[in-house]
Amino acid sequence: MSEQFSAYIRNIEKVSFDKSFQKKWDSNIEKHEKNVLKAKNNYNDVKLARLRAAFISQKSQKQLDDLLIQFDSNFTQNGGKVLWARNSREAVSFVLDSIEKAVNKKIICSKSFLYKEIDLENAFKKKKITCTETNLDNFILQSKVDKSPECTNASLHLSKSEINEILTEKYGLKEDSTPEEMIRFMCNELKNDFDLAGISLTGANFLLADIGGVVLIENEGNILKSTATTDLHIVLAGIDKIIPSIEDLDTILPLLSTYSSGQLMTAFSSITTGAAGDENGPQQMIVILVDNNRSELLSRSQQRAALACIKCGSCQNVCPVYRTIGSSSYGVTYSGPIGIVIEPIMKGFENYGHLSFACTMCKKCDDVCPVNIPLSKLIIKNREEIFGHKIASSPNTFAMKKLIKWLLSRRKMDLFGAGVKNYLLKHFFAKQWGNRRQLPVIQTKSFSQQWREKNK
Ligand code: SF4
Repeated sequence: MSEQFSAYIRNIEKVSFDKSFQKKWDSNIEKHEKNVLKAKNNYNDVKLARLRAAFISQKSQKQLDDLLIQFDSNFTQNGGKVLWARNSREAVSFVLDSIEKAVNKKIICSKSFLYKEIDLENAFKKKKITCTETNLDNFILQSKVDKSPECTNASLHLSKSEINEILTEKYGLKEDSTPEEMIRFMCNELKNDFDLAGISLTGANFLLADIGGVVLIENEGNILKSTATTDLHIVLAGIDKIIPSIEDLDTILPLLSTYSSGQLMTAFSSITTGAAGDENGPQQMIVILVDNNRSELLSRSQQRAALACIKCGSCQNVCPVYRTIGSSSYGVTYSGPIGIVIEPIMKGFENYGHLSFACTMCKKCDDVCPVNIPLSKLIIKNREEIFGHKIASSPNTFAMKKLIKWLLSRRKMDLFGAGVKNYLLKHFFAKQWGNRRQLPVIQTKSFSQQWREKNK
């Protein structure tokens, strides 16, 4: 059993039976789902919009290399700089080098998935670099140990009073504050950081090949403000963020807002096409294009469909496993149905293959994905790879093969009486079964014997 698998089992055990977590988590997700449902009604034909979005994604994947080169060329012509990072080590070193060269090294950021994926937090810690989080959700989580990013609403698992408690403990906010007071307090805390910062660090929602643009959407205006007031804007973007044209945003942006936050459009949508060169924006803009095994995903003819993900979080919210174990239990950056497809491929099946089994095959995720990713099929494909390529540990495969052989033979099944079978179950399978479930009891008579006796 890999270290990651053991940690995953420990996390599940802790979260699944935490009733207070389950209550808050469920009620917050339900509220969120109601908003999404309402927003979907704004569409005359949401299915058609999803088909269009899926078409754009497929087109982007087919031309990924050309589109990335087109983006690089257009963005550079606009006065920006593009750096290509093959892996997280290169991405981290590009960020650190850019900070090193900056005159004002004070950083404000709006953390993205990539921030966690390449473990920038650790790199900053080692170099004693501080980076102030400007997104209020993440600002709250800054002081918490459990910082797993969600696609949307990072603090979805916290109640109002827990948020108040965090802000009281870390910043001295008065107890029993109203949500408005909490927001005002956080904005005041951040004011100084906005005024003094020289560098803004963000992710990207999309990259536009035709105009060399970076699309950033948000509800708080913190990204817009931080990029407008700093000298250097560093963007961390996965190569999967590329789409062909600004015109594609007509389809994709409303879908993303609808499915992620239940809004027809988010409050702020910005497109930045390079350094402003005057007081209205940064003097320098750098986009770091990160591969980090996305090419590995792209090389698989079926699972590459997962690269179309726009990180709306819908598949997570409907997933019964995700809703039971919470996002931090997965122990990886991307959780829920999309996470269990891409993480084992990007990080290796040996240590992360177990994640592909965090699925009940209810297929609800397939129904809600706005870009029509066939998630359940991709999860099955991952499982096939695990068994087909003997990634499952050999003692497990050996035991499973023996068990199947035994179960398929009536003669072998009846070799021992119910007493012996119950003894074996109790002494050899109780651990795997878990101490929260009752072991089944094997009857003394077989089903057909009982049937005959009943119908005599
Ligand atoms: S896989 Fe689909 S539903 Fe899940 S986060 Fe990505 S876009 Fe949203």
